[in-house]
Amino acid sequence: MPKLLLATTNQGKTREYRYLLEGLHFELVTLAEEGLDMPVREANTSFEDNARLKATTYAGLSCLITLADDSGLEVDALGGAPGILSARFAGDEASDEDRVQHLLAKLNEVPWEKRTARFKCVIAIATPEGKTELCCGECHGLIALEPRGGNGFGYDPVFYLPQFDKTMAELPPETKNQISHRSSAAKEAYRVLEQLAEGVKP
Ligand code: IMP
Repeated sequence: MPKLLLATTNQGKTREYRYLLEGLHFELVTLAEEGLDMPVREANTSFEDNARLKATTYAGLSCLITLADDSGLEVDALGGAPGILSARFAGDEASDEDRVQHLLAKLNEVPWEKRTARFKCVIAIATPEGKTELCCGECHGLIALEPRGGNGFGYDPVFYLPQFDKTMAELPPETKNQISHRSSAAKEAYRVLEQLAEGVKP
């Protein structure tokens, strides 16, 4: 089976992609497994640019078809922040919990109906020959008043989904993987990868 490089060091994302890309004719390998766990400097202009830069850089280094994702949270009351800076919202050394607390503090005065937000995910798939495809997904919700739930990662404990009356972190992983921004983008990516698998089958 040909290898597909999953260009992320985020264990939460890796777990989700293993589930979302199950059944493809690819062996999923990580940066660490390929000895490539050095960071790529992000373009920091858009989710699309970041995802494309990560995917093309690691595809060039590994000579493997590579999937990279750039994702984050956009909060309307913060003018779309933290957006592409979601991972560094509370500083470079901060934990998921620090970022959640930082977000809640910023929204302290914001009433419930104005706490609307969305997760965004852009997946870039790059081939070693330099071809790139982008797939995008979004998931809409509200920022909860306090964290709840132990599943998922990142901002999941404060991302409230009215249709379930639960935060993303309270949903079973299978449900998150049906409705999340990453799952919408991955459905498109799955089709792109199926076609690439056809091309690389021996
Ligand atoms: P990056 O894509 O590695 O730049 O980081 C994205 C950041 O956005 C993560 O570190 C999380 O804080 C947040 N994020 C992205 N996707 C999710 C998700 O599915 N749940 C919760 N937080 C997420």
